[in-house]
Amino acid sequence: MTSPAPHAFWLAGRKATGEETFDVTNSWDGRLVGTVSVPTEAQVEEAVAAAHAVREEFAGTPAHVRTAALDHVAKRLAERTEEIAQLISAENGKPIKWARGEVGRAVSVFRWAAEEARRFNAGDAQRLDTDPGSTGRLALTRRFPRGVVLGIAPFNFPLNLAAHKVAPAIAVGAPIILKPAPATPLSSLVLGELLAETELPAGSWSVLTVPNDRMPALVQDERLPVISFTGSGPVGWSILDSAPRKHVTLELGGNGAAVVLADWSSEADLDWAAQRIATFSNYQGGQSCISVQRVIADASLYERLVPKVVAAVEAQVTGDPSDAATDVGPLVSEDAAKRVESWVDEAVAAGAKLLAGGKREGATYAPTVLADVPAGVTIACEEVFGPVLTLSKADGEEAAFAAVNDSPYGLQAGVFTHDLQTAFRAHRALETGGVVIGDVPSYRADQMPYGGAKQSGVGREGVRYAMDDYTYERVLVLTGL
Ligand code: NAD
Repeated sequence: MTSPAPHAFWLAGRKATGEETFDVTNSWDGRLVGTVSVPTEAQVEEAVAAAHAVREEFAGTPAHVRTAALDHVAKRLAERTEEIAQLISAENGKPIKWARGEVGRAVSVFRWAAEEARRFNAGDAQRLDTDPGSTGRLALTRRFPRGVVLGIAPFNFPLNLAAHKVAPAIAVGAPIILKPAPATPLSSLVLGELLAETELPAGSWSVLTVPNDRMPALVQDERLPVISFTGSGPVGWSILDSAPRKHVTLELGGNGAAVVLADWSSEADLDWAAQRIATFSNYQGGQSCISVQRVIADASLYERLVPKVVAAVEAQVTGDPSDAATDVGPLVSEDAAKRVESWVDEAVAAGAKLLAGGKREGATYAPTVLADVPAGVTIACEEVFGPVLTLSKADGEEAAFAAVNDSPYGLQAGVFTHDLQTAFRAHRALETGGVVIGDVPSYRADQMPYGGAKQSGVGREGVRYAMDDYTYERVLVLTGL
Protein backbone atom coordinates (compact mmCIF):
# COMPACT_ATOMS: atom_id res chain seq x y z
CA MET A 1 0.00 0.00 0.00
CA THR A 2 1.38 3.44 -0.88
CA SER A 3 1.24 6.08 1.82
CA PRO A 4 -0.91 9.15 1.11
CA ALA A 5 0.79 12.18 -0.46
CA PRO A 6 2.14 14.66 2.09
CA HIS A 7 0.10 17.78 2.83
CA ALA A 8 1.34 20.68 0.73
CA PHE A 9 2.20 24.02 2.28
CA TRP A 10 1.11 27.35 0.76
CA LEU A 11 3.72 29.38 -1.09
CA ALA A 12 2.57 32.83 -2.19
CA GLY A 13 -1.04 31.66 -2.41
CA ARG A 14 -0.46 28.37 -4.23
CA LYS A 15 0.15 24.81 -3.09
CA ALA A 16 3.73 23.58 -3.10
CA THR A 17 5.77 20.70 -1.77
CA GLY A 18 9.44 20.50 -0.85
CA GLU A 19 11.91 17.66 -0.56
CA GLU A 20 11.48 16.67 3.09
CA THR A 21 8.48 15.82 5.24
CA PHE A 22 7.55 15.45 8.91
CA ASP A 23 4.79 13.53 10.65
CA VAL A 24 1.94 14.81 12.78
CA THR A 25 0.70 12.27 15.32
CA ASN A 26 -2.22 12.05 17.72
CA SER A 27 -0.97 12.16 21.31
CA TRP A 28 -3.96 10.13 22.56
CA ASP A 29 -3.38 6.95 20.55
CA GLY A 30 -0.13 7.64 18.67
CA ARG A 31 -1.75 7.28 15.25
CA LEU A 32 -0.39 9.17 12.28
CA VAL A 33 -2.67 12.11 11.50
CA GLY A 34 -0.79 13.42 8.51
CA THR A 35 2.57 13.90 6.83
CA VAL A 36 3.51 17.46 5.96
CA SER A 37 5.88 18.76 3.35
CA VAL A 38 8.70 21.11 4.40
CA PRO A 39 9.62 24.07 2.15
CA THR A 40 13.17 24.21 0.85
CA GLU A 41 15.29 27.29 1.51
CA ALA A 42 14.67 28.39 -2.08
CA GLN A 43 10.90 28.09 -1.59
CA VAL A 44 11.01 30.13 1.61
CA GLU A 45 13.01 32.76 -0.25
CA GLU A 46 10.40 32.78 -3.01
CA ALA A 47 7.57 33.34 -0.52
CA VAL A 48 9.43 36.16 1.27
CA ALA A 49 10.38 37.86 -2.00
CA ALA A 50 6.78 37.61 -3.26
CA ALA A 51 5.37 39.09 -0.04
CA HIS A 52 7.92 41.90 -0.13
CA ALA A 53 7.20 42.65 -3.79
CA VAL A 54 3.41 42.79 -3.34
CA ARG A 55 3.37 44.92 -0.18
CA GLU A 56 2.55 48.25 -1.84
CA GLU A 57 -0.06 46.74 -4.13
CA PHE A 58 -1.65 44.96 -1.17
CA ALA A 59 -1.66 48.08 1.00
CA GLY A 60 -3.57 49.81 -1.80
CA THR A 61 -6.13 47.02 -2.29
CA PRO A 62 -9.64 48.45 -1.84
CA ALA A 63 -11.29 47.66 1.47
CA HIS A 64 -14.14 45.87 -0.33
CA VAL A 65 -11.69 43.30 -1.73
CA ARG A 66 -10.13 42.63 1.66
CA THR A 67 -13.46 42.54 3.51
CA ALA A 68 -14.87 40.16 0.89
CA ALA A 69 -11.93 37.83 1.47
CA LEU A 70 -12.31 38.00 5.27
CA ASP A 71 -16.07 37.43 5.07
CA HIS A 72 -15.48 34.49 2.75
CA VAL A 73 -13.02 32.82 5.12
CA ALA A 74 -15.43 33.35 8.05
CA LYS A 75 -18.28 31.79 6.08
CA ARG A 76 -16.24 28.80 4.90
CA LEU A 77 -14.79 28.14 8.36
CA ALA A 78 -18.34 28.10 9.70
CA GLU A 79 -19.46 25.72 6.95
CA ARG A 80 -16.53 23.37 7.58
CA THR A 81 -16.65 23.56 11.39
CA GLU A 82 -17.09 19.88 12.11
CA GLU A 83 -14.36 18.69 9.74
CA ILE A 84 -11.86 21.31 10.98
CA ALA A 85 -12.74 20.62 14.62
CA GLN A 86 -12.02 16.92 14.06
CA LEU A 87 -8.67 17.85 12.54
CA ILE A 88 -7.72 20.14 15.45
CA SER A 89 -8.73 17.45 17.92
CA ALA A 90 -6.63 14.86 16.06
CA GLU A 91 -3.48 16.97 15.67
CA ASN A 92 -3.61 18.59 19.09
CA GLY A 93 -5.30 16.01 21.33
CA LYS A 94 -7.89 18.64 22.28
CA PRO A 95 -11.34 17.34 23.31
CA ILE A 96 -13.72 17.71 20.40
CA LYS A 97 -16.09 20.02 22.28
CA TRP A 98 -13.27 22.54 22.82
CA ALA A 99 -12.10 22.10 19.22
CA ARG A 100 -15.58 23.03 17.96
CA GLY A 101 -15.46 26.10 20.18
CA GLU A 102 -12.08 27.02 18.73
CA VAL A 103 -13.41 26.97 15.17
CA GLY A 104 -16.30 29.18 16.28
CA ARG A 105 -13.83 31.67 17.71
CA ALA A 106 -11.80 31.72 14.49
CA VAL A 107 -15.02 32.48 12.60
CA SER A 108 -15.57 35.40 14.96
CA VAL A 109 -11.99 36.66 14.43
CA PHE A 110 -12.45 36.78 10.65
CA ARG A 111 -15.86 38.43 11.03
CA TRP A 112 -14.46 41.08 13.34
CA ALA A 113 -11.55 41.66 10.97
CA ALA A 114 -14.00 42.23 8.10
CA GLU A 115 -15.98 44.70 10.21
CA GLU A 116 -12.89 46.54 11.38
CA ALA A 117 -11.50 46.69 7.83
CA ARG A 118 -14.65 48.52 6.73
CA ARG A 119 -14.04 51.24 9.31
CA PHE A 120 -10.24 51.30 9.54
CA ASN A 121 -8.12 54.17 8.34
CA ALA A 122 -10.79 56.68 7.43
CA GLY A 123 -8.30 59.12 8.87
CA ASP A 124 -8.32 61.91 11.34
CA ALA A 125 -7.99 65.65 10.78
CA GLN A 126 -6.27 68.09 13.09
CA ARG A 127 -6.18 71.85 12.70
CA LEU A 128 -2.70 73.34 12.87
CA ASP A 129 -3.64 77.03 12.64
CA THR A 130 -3.66 77.23 16.40
CA ASP A 131 -0.20 78.82 16.14
CA PRO A 132 0.45 81.97 14.12
CA GLY A 133 3.24 80.24 12.19
CA SER A 134 0.83 77.53 10.99
CA THR A 135 -1.93 79.67 9.53
CA GLY A 136 -3.51 77.89 6.59
CA ARG A 137 -2.25 74.44 7.58
CA LEU A 138 -4.17 71.23 8.34
CA ALA A 139 -2.91 67.77 9.32
CA LEU A 140 -4.51 64.54 8.18
CA THR A 141 -3.38 61.30 9.82
CA ARG A 142 -3.85 57.85 8.41
CA ARG A 143 -2.29 54.48 9.25
CA PHE A 144 -0.19 52.47 6.80
CA PRO A 145 1.19 48.93 7.08
CA ARG A 146 4.69 48.60 8.49
CA GLY A 147 5.39 45.87 5.95
CA VAL A 148 5.22 42.09 5.74
CA VAL A 149 4.16 40.31 8.95
CA LEU A 150 5.84 37.10 10.06
CA GLY A 151 3.17 35.36 12.19
CA ILE A 152 4.46 32.53 14.39
CA ALA A 153 1.76 30.42 16.04
CA PRO A 154 1.80 27.93 18.96
CA PHE A 155 0.30 24.46 19.16
CA ASN A 156 -2.38 25.02 21.77
CA PHE A 157 -4.99 26.91 19.70
CA PRO A 158 -3.60 26.04 16.29
CA LEU A 159 -6.43 27.56 14.27
CA ASN A 160 -7.59 30.50 16.35
CA LEU A 161 -4.17 31.88 17.19
CA ALA A 162 -3.21 31.59 13.50
CA ALA A 163 -6.43 33.48 12.71
CA HIS A 164 -5.32 36.21 15.15
CA LYS A 165 -2.21 36.74 12.99
CA VAL A 166 -3.72 36.36 9.53
CA ALA A 167 -7.08 38.18 9.73
CA PRO A 168 -5.76 41.54 11.07
CA ALA A 169 -2.96 41.48 8.47
CA ILE A 170 -5.48 41.09 5.63
CA ALA A 171 -7.68 43.74 7.23
CA VAL A 172 -4.90 46.36 6.98
CA GLY A 173 -3.42 45.15 3.69
CA ALA A 174 -0.16 43.79 5.13
CA PRO A 175 1.21 40.61 3.49
CA ILE A 176 1.55 37.75 5.98
CA ILE A 177 3.75 34.69 6.22
CA LEU A 178 2.22 32.30 8.74
CA LYS A 179 4.42 29.73 10.46
CA PRO A 180 2.34 27.12 12.34
CA ALA A 181 3.68 24.99 15.19
CA PRO A 182 5.28 21.71 14.04
CA ALA A 183 2.94 19.61 16.22
CA THR A 184 -0.23 21.18 14.77
CA PRO A 185 0.18 22.52 11.22
CA LEU A 186 -2.83 20.85 9.61
CA SER A 187 -5.54 23.31 10.61
CA SER A 188 -3.39 26.21 9.37
CA LEU A 189 -2.99 24.41 6.06
CA VAL A 190 -6.79 24.17 5.80
CA LEU A 191 -6.95 27.89 6.51
CA GLY A 192 -4.70 28.21 3.45
CA GLU A 193 -7.31 26.35 1.38
CA LEU A 194 -9.91 28.96 2.33
CA LEU A 195 -7.57 31.88 1.63
CA ALA A 196 -6.83 30.34 -1.78
CA GLU A 197 -10.55 30.61 -2.61
CA THR A 198 -10.38 34.42 -2.30
CA GLU A 199 -9.24 37.17 -4.69
CA LEU A 200 -6.33 38.26 -2.50
CA PRO A 201 -3.25 39.06 -4.58
CA ALA A 202 -0.74 36.25 -5.10
CA GLY A 203 2.15 36.74 -2.73
CA SER A 204 0.06 38.46 -0.07
CA TRP A 205 -0.09 35.32 2.06
CA SER A 206 1.84 32.08 2.60
CA VAL A 207 1.61 29.28 5.16
CA LEU A 208 5.09 27.83 5.53
CA THR A 209 5.89 24.76 7.62
CA VAL A 210 9.46 25.86 8.28
CA PRO A 211 11.41 23.75 10.81
CA ASN A 212 12.42 25.51 14.03
CA ASP A 213 16.14 25.36 13.29
CA ARG A 214 15.60 27.46 10.16
CA MET A 215 13.48 30.10 11.88
CA PRO A 216 16.37 32.35 13.04
CA ALA A 217 17.10 33.21 9.37
CA LEU A 218 13.48 34.26 8.82
CA VAL A 219 13.41 36.22 12.07
CA GLN A 220 16.48 38.14 10.88
CA ASP A 221 15.20 38.78 7.36
CA GLU A 222 14.90 42.56 6.87
CA ARG A 223 12.03 42.14 4.42
CA LEU A 224 9.88 40.96 7.35
CA PRO A 225 9.79 44.04 9.63
CA VAL A 226 6.90 42.86 11.82
CA ILE A 227 6.95 39.71 13.92
CA SER A 228 3.84 38.57 15.74
CA PHE A 229 4.80 35.67 17.96
CA THR A 230 2.64 33.56 20.27
CA GLY A 231 4.43 30.85 22.21
CA SER A 232 6.82 30.22 25.05
CA GLY A 233 8.86 32.86 26.84
CA PRO A 234 12.35 31.60 26.05
CA VAL A 235 11.67 31.46 22.30
CA GLY A 236 9.76 34.76 22.31
CA TRP A 237 12.36 36.78 24.19
CA SER A 238 15.15 35.28 22.07
CA ILE A 239 13.34 36.58 18.98
CA LEU A 240 13.14 40.09 20.45
CA ASP A 241 16.82 39.92 21.48
CA SER A 242 17.89 38.82 18.03
CA ALA A 243 15.76 41.37 16.15
CA PRO A 244 15.64 44.40 18.47
CA ARG A 245 14.89 46.89 15.69
CA LYS A 246 11.87 45.05 14.37
CA HIS A 247 8.32 45.63 15.50
CA VAL A 248 7.85 42.52 17.64
CA THR A 249 4.71 41.45 19.50
CA LEU A 250 5.13 38.66 22.03
CA GLU A 251 2.15 36.77 23.42
CA LEU A 252 3.78 34.50 25.98
CA GLY A 253 2.92 32.37 28.97
CA GLY A 254 1.41 32.99 32.37
CA ASN A 255 0.47 31.33 35.65
CA GLY A 256 -3.03 32.74 35.84
CA ALA A 257 -4.53 33.44 39.25
CA ALA A 258 -8.17 33.25 40.34
CA VAL A 259 -8.85 35.23 43.52
CA VAL A 260 -11.94 34.45 45.60
CA LEU A 261 -12.64 37.39 47.94
CA ALA A 262 -14.53 37.40 51.23
CA ASP A 263 -17.79 38.74 49.78
CA TRP A 264 -18.05 35.83 47.31
CA SER A 265 -19.26 33.57 50.07
CA SER A 266 -22.75 32.15 49.55
CA GLU A 267 -23.03 28.45 48.74
CA ALA A 268 -24.08 29.35 45.21
CA ASP A 269 -21.11 31.74 44.84
CA LEU A 270 -18.63 29.09 45.94
CA ASP A 271 -20.23 26.40 43.77
CA TRP A 272 -19.94 28.64 40.72
CA ALA A 273 -16.34 29.62 41.49
CA ALA A 274 -15.35 25.97 42.07
CA GLN A 275 -16.99 24.90 38.82
CA ARG A 276 -15.30 27.62 36.78
CA ILE A 277 -11.92 27.00 38.42
CA ALA A 278 -12.13 23.24 37.80
CA THR A 279 -13.18 23.68 34.18
CA PHE A 280 -10.60 26.30 33.30
CA SER A 281 -7.61 24.79 35.01
CA ASN A 282 -8.21 21.68 32.92
CA TYR A 283 -9.64 22.65 29.56
CA GLN A 284 -7.05 22.09 26.82
CA GLY A 285 -5.34 19.87 29.44
CA GLY A 286 -4.30 23.11 31.13
CA GLN A 287 -2.42 24.08 27.97
CA SER A 288 -3.82 27.57 27.72
CA CYS A 289 -1.79 30.65 28.57
CA ILE A 290 -4.72 31.87 30.72
CA SER A 291 -5.51 28.58 32.44
CA VAL A 292 -6.19 28.81 36.15
CA GLN A 293 -2.94 27.74 37.78
CA ARG A 294 -3.20 29.54 41.12
CA VAL A 295 -6.29 29.86 43.31
CA ILE A 296 -5.94 32.46 46.05
CA ALA A 297 -8.93 32.34 48.38
CA ASP A 298 -9.78 34.58 51.30
CA ALA A 299 -9.00 32.81 54.57
CA SER A 300 -12.62 33.29 55.72
CA LEU A 301 -13.96 30.94 53.05
CA TYR A 302 -10.92 28.82 52.12
CA GLU A 303 -11.98 25.71 54.07
CA ARG A 304 -15.43 25.76 52.45
CA LEU A 305 -14.08 26.32 48.94
CA VAL A 306 -11.43 23.58 48.94
CA PRO A 307 -13.73 20.51 48.98
CA LYS A 308 -15.93 22.09 46.31
CA VAL A 309 -12.91 22.67 44.04
CA VAL A 310 -11.61 19.15 44.64
CA ALA A 311 -15.01 17.62 43.87
CA ALA A 312 -15.40 19.70 40.71
CA VAL A 313 -11.89 18.77 39.53
CA GLU A 314 -12.52 15.08 40.22
CA ALA A 315 -15.74 15.31 38.18
CA GLN A 316 -13.80 16.32 35.06
CA VAL A 317 -14.05 13.51 32.53
CA THR A 318 -10.63 12.49 31.24
CA GLY A 319 -10.32 10.39 28.13
CA ASP A 320 -10.44 10.07 24.37
CA PRO A 321 -10.49 13.58 22.86
CA SER A 322 -12.78 12.45 20.04
CA ASP A 323 -15.49 11.54 22.58
CA ALA A 324 -18.02 14.37 23.05
CA ALA A 325 -18.20 13.63 26.79
CA THR A 326 -14.47 14.20 27.36
CA ASP A 327 -13.46 17.31 29.28
CA VAL A 328 -9.71 16.65 29.52
CA GLY A 329 -7.66 14.98 26.82
CA PRO A 330 -3.98 14.17 26.60
CA LEU A 331 -1.27 16.82 26.61
CA VAL A 332 0.44 17.56 23.32
CA SER A 333 3.01 14.79 23.93
CA GLU A 334 4.09 12.22 26.49
CA ASP A 335 7.19 14.34 27.19
CA ALA A 336 4.96 17.27 28.12
CA ALA A 337 2.99 15.05 30.53
CA LYS A 338 6.23 13.71 32.06
CA ARG A 339 7.42 17.28 32.67
CA VAL A 340 4.17 18.14 34.47
CA GLU A 341 4.47 14.92 36.49
CA SER A 342 8.00 15.80 37.56
CA TRP A 343 6.92 19.29 38.72
CA VAL A 344 4.05 17.86 40.79
CA ASP A 345 6.33 15.18 42.25
CA GLU A 346 8.90 17.84 43.16
CA ALA A 347 6.24 19.91 44.95
CA VAL A 348 4.87 16.89 46.85
CA ALA A 349 8.38 15.82 47.88
CA ALA A 350 8.92 19.34 49.24
CA GLY A 351 5.77 19.11 51.39
CA ALA A 352 2.82 20.12 49.15
CA LYS A 353 -0.47 18.29 49.83
CA LEU A 354 -1.88 16.36 46.87
CA LEU A 355 -5.70 16.71 47.08
CA ALA A 356 -6.60 15.23 43.68
CA GLY A 357 -4.92 13.68 40.64
CA GLY A 358 -1.15 13.35 40.50
CA LYS A 359 -1.21 10.43 38.08
CA ARG A 360 0.02 10.07 34.50
CA GLU A 361 -0.92 7.55 31.85
CA GLY A 362 0.98 8.06 28.60
CA ALA A 363 0.41 11.65 27.49
CA THR A 364 -2.59 12.11 29.80
CA TYR A 365 -2.11 13.74 33.18
CA ALA A 366 -4.99 13.54 35.64
CA PRO A 367 -6.59 16.84 36.76
CA THR A 368 -4.59 17.69 39.86
CA VAL A 369 -5.04 19.90 42.91
CA LEU A 370 -2.19 20.85 45.24
CA ALA A 371 -2.37 22.79 48.51
CA ASP A 372 0.31 24.22 50.81
CA VAL A 373 2.86 24.37 48.01
CA PRO A 374 6.18 25.59 49.40
CA ALA A 375 7.60 28.76 47.83
CA GLY A 376 10.52 28.11 45.56
CA VAL A 377 9.44 24.80 43.98
CA THR A 378 9.14 24.98 40.19
CA ILE A 379 5.35 24.84 40.09
CA ALA A 380 5.12 27.81 42.46
CA CYS A 381 7.23 29.96 40.12
CA GLU A 382 6.76 28.79 36.53
CA GLU A 383 3.93 28.24 34.06
CA VAL A 384 2.87 24.58 34.47
CA PHE A 385 0.99 24.38 31.15
CA GLY A 386 -0.80 21.28 32.37
CA PRO A 387 -3.97 20.36 34.32
CA VAL A 388 -2.70 21.36 37.75
CA LEU A 389 -3.88 24.02 40.15
CA THR A 390 -2.47 25.17 43.46
CA LEU A 391 -4.63 26.42 46.34
CA SER A 392 -3.55 29.04 48.84
CA LYS A 393 -5.25 31.41 51.26
CA ALA A 394 -4.84 35.12 51.84
CA ASP A 395 -5.94 37.43 54.65
CA GLY A 396 -7.97 40.05 52.86
CA GLU A 397 -7.96 41.77 49.52
CA GLU A 398 -4.60 43.49 49.74
CA ALA A 399 -2.77 40.26 50.58
CA ALA A 400 -4.60 38.44 47.79
CA PHE A 401 -3.66 41.06 45.19
CA ALA A 402 -0.05 41.03 46.43
CA ALA A 403 -0.02 37.24 45.96
CA VAL A 404 -1.26 37.60 42.37
CA ASN A 405 1.49 40.11 41.66
CA ASP A 406 4.11 37.88 43.27
CA SER A 407 4.83 36.28 39.90
CA PRO A 408 7.17 36.99 37.02
CA TYR A 409 4.12 36.76 34.73
CA GLY A 410 1.15 39.04 34.20
CA LEU A 411 -1.30 37.89 31.55
CA GLN A 412 -4.78 37.91 33.11
CA ALA A 413 -6.26 37.56 36.58
CA GLY A 414 -9.76 36.61 37.69
CA VAL A 415 -11.36 38.14 40.79
CA PHE A 416 -14.54 36.73 42.28
CA THR A 417 -16.21 39.70 43.97
CA HIS A 418 -19.62 41.37 43.81
CA ASP A 419 -18.30 44.75 44.82
CA LEU A 420 -17.83 47.42 42.18
CA GLN A 421 -15.26 49.38 44.14
CA THR A 422 -13.23 46.23 44.70
CA ALA A 423 -13.38 45.62 40.96
CA PHE A 424 -11.87 49.03 40.30
CA ARG A 425 -9.23 48.49 42.99
CA ALA A 426 -8.33 45.15 41.37
CA HIS A 427 -8.07 46.82 37.99
CA ARG A 428 -5.67 49.36 39.46
CA ALA A 429 -3.62 46.96 41.60
CA LEU A 430 -3.11 43.87 39.47
CA GLU A 431 -0.06 43.86 37.20
CA THR A 432 -1.70 41.91 34.39
CA GLY A 433 -2.85 42.64 30.85
CA GLY A 434 -6.44 41.90 31.84
CA VAL A 435 -8.60 41.60 34.97
CA VAL A 436 -11.81 39.54 34.82
CA ILE A 437 -14.37 40.22 37.53
CA GLY A 438 -16.75 37.47 38.65
CA ASP A 439 -14.94 34.77 36.69
CA VAL A 440 -11.63 32.98 36.11
CA PRO A 441 -8.67 34.59 34.28
CA SER A 442 -9.34 32.30 31.33
CA TYR A 443 -12.07 34.45 29.79
CA ARG A 444 -11.13 35.96 26.43
CA ALA A 445 -13.30 37.56 23.77
CA ASP A 446 -11.41 37.77 20.50
CA GLN A 447 -12.08 41.46 19.88
CA MET A 448 -10.83 42.70 23.23
CA PRO A 449 -7.23 43.83 23.79
CA TYR A 450 -5.27 40.83 24.92
CA GLY A 451 -1.67 40.50 25.99
CA GLY A 452 0.71 40.47 28.88
CA ALA A 453 2.61 42.55 31.36
CA LYS A 454 6.00 41.56 32.81
CA GLN A 455 7.33 38.28 31.34
CA SER A 456 4.00 37.49 29.69
CA GLY A 457 4.90 39.60 26.69
CA VAL A 458 4.74 42.90 24.87
CA GLY A 459 2.05 44.32 22.57
CA ARG A 460 -1.60 43.45 22.22
CA GLU A 461 -3.72 41.17 20.07
CA GLY A 462 -7.50 41.34 19.66
CA VAL A 463 -8.40 42.12 16.10
CA ARG A 464 -8.42 45.93 16.19
CA TYR A 465 -5.34 46.05 18.43
CA ALA A 466 -3.31 43.81 16.13
CA MET A 467 -4.36 46.04 13.21
CA ASP A 468 -2.93 49.03 15.09
CA ASP A 469 0.18 47.01 15.76
CA TYR A 470 0.73 46.08 12.11
CA THR A 471 0.44 49.71 10.99
CA TYR A 472 1.89 53.09 11.89
CA GLU A 473 0.48 56.58 11.77
CA ARG A 474 1.67 58.84 8.97
CA VAL A 475 0.71 62.49 8.98
CA LEU A 476 -0.11 64.57 5.88
CA VAL A 477 0.39 68.29 6.39
CA LEU A 478 -1.61 70.46 3.97
CA THR A 479 -0.52 74.06 3.40
CA GLY A 480 -2.24 77.13 1.95
CA LEU A 481 -5.79 76.30 2.97
P1 NAD B 1 6.96 27.41 21.43
O1 NAD B 1 7.66 28.65 21.88
O2 NAD B 1 7.65 26.12 21.59
O3 NAD B 1 6.59 27.52 19.88
C1 NAD B 1 5.84 28.59 19.37
C2 NAD B 1 6.16 28.75 17.90
O4 NAD B 1 7.51 29.20 17.77
C3 NAD B 1 6.07 27.46 17.08
O5 NAD B 1 5.51 27.76 15.82
C4 NAD B 1 7.51 27.04 16.95
O6 NAD B 1 7.73 26.23 15.83
C5 NAD B 1 8.18 28.40 16.80
N1 NAD B 1 9.62 28.42 17.09
C6 NAD B 1 10.35 27.54 17.80
N2 NAD B 1 11.65 27.94 17.83
C7 NAD B 1 11.72 29.10 17.16
C8 NAD B 1 12.77 30.02 16.88
N3 NAD B 1 14.01 29.82 17.30
N4 NAD B 1 12.48 31.14 16.18
C9 NAD B 1 11.22 31.39 15.77
N5 NAD B 1 10.18 30.55 15.99
C10 NAD B 1 10.42 29.42 16.69
O7 NAD B 1 5.53 27.43 22.16
P2 NAD B 1 4.40 26.30 22.12
O8 NAD B 1 4.88 25.17 22.96
O9 NAD B 1 3.92 26.04 20.75
O10 NAD B 1 3.22 27.08 22.87
C11 NAD B 1 3.08 27.07 24.24
C12 NAD B 1 3.44 28.40 24.84
O11 NAD B 1 2.69 29.43 24.20
C13 NAD B 1 3.06 28.51 26.31
O12 NAD B 1 4.10 29.13 27.02
C14 NAD B 1 1.81 29.39 26.30
O13 NAD B 1 1.57 30.08 27.49
C15 NAD B 1 2.12 30.30 25.17
N6 NAD B 1 0.89 30.90 24.64
C16 NAD B 1 0.65 32.23 24.82
C17 NAD B 1 -0.54 32.80 24.36
C18 NAD B 1 -0.82 34.26 24.52
O14 NAD B 1 -1.64 34.77 23.77
N7 NAD B 1 -0.19 34.95 25.45
C19 NAD B 1 -1.48 32.00 23.73
C20 NAD B 1 -1.21 30.65 23.57
C21 NAD B 1 -0.01 30.11 24.01
